[in-house]
Amino acid sequence: SATISLHDVTKCYTIRGGADVVALNHVNLEIEAGAIHGIVGQSGAGKSTLIRCLTALEHPTEGEILVGGQNLSALSEKELRLERRQIGMVFQAANLFDARTALENVAYPLRITGVSKEEARAKATELLQVVGLRGRENSYPSQLSGGQRQRVGIARALAAKPSILLCDEPTSALDSETTRQVLALLQQIRDHFGVTIVIITHEMEVVRSICDSVSLLEHGQVIETGKIKDVVADP
Ligand code: ADP
Ligand code: ADP
Repeated sequence: SATISLHDVTKCYTIRGGADVVALNHVNLEIEAGAIHGIVGQSGAGKSTLIRCLTALEHPTEGEILVGGQNLSALSEKELRLERRQIGMVFQAANLFDARTALENVAYPLRITGVSKEEARAKATELLQVVGLRGRENSYPSQLSGGQRQRVGIARALAAKPSILLCDEPTSALDSETTRQVLALLQQIRDHFGVTIVIITHEMEVVRSICDSVSLLEHGQVIETGKIKDVVADP
């Protein structure tokens, strides 16, 4: 697992013919290795920008980001490609290839990093077991429930043995029972593999149920951050 720190990170987008948009405004954030950290904010708060900065798809206008002690702005493109493999992404709608089976979806990221077909299939089978989908290897996404598709997405995100899982609204498309199951799986993955998990969400309930710490983002600023019990009062 890896620590994530943001030091005074500002990200401005320059719009042609318009004023700059300040998407992140002097953000300071410390996420402990092995923690489950929630980032909560309304639409437009800067959550997606924060994710794109963590994966170095965007570069901060000011400030620095350290992932596992490495300063992202000091890395070359080649080093960044390796760094990105340390980060597994889980999306709201799982973003699976519909024409590929569950097994093929999970094996795919391994194949593109040069793992042999045999080994990738064996590893994908094992990961599908980890997420509770033994026996569904040959199912296509359309044959799976929303929760099962999200499990495939999680298995795929784990394939490269990341030290960080970035989950972007992982349960927003799920009903409350399925949400509980997917969150329990994420917790189990953290406990078992020790990955640092960042969950971006607008649902306070998600944060309350599994996060150790949380940051509240509003208009690009962290308005509150800390241990869950200090930030989120019981309902
Ligand atoms: P969230 O994910 O919380 O909805 P975003 O990071 O997408 O927030 O957006 C934060 C702010 O930055 C918003 O005002 C948004 O309109 C603006 N923004 C995001 N991406 C771009 C972009 N590529 N160009 C210009 N403005 C952007
Ligand atoms: P190995 O080196 O044989 O892969 P490990 O002790 O590293 O063994 O891991 C045990 C199992 O857990 C292996 O199947 C491995 O692929 C898997 N694993 C380890 N770390 C992670 C991780 N961060 N994410 C997903 N799977 C992992």
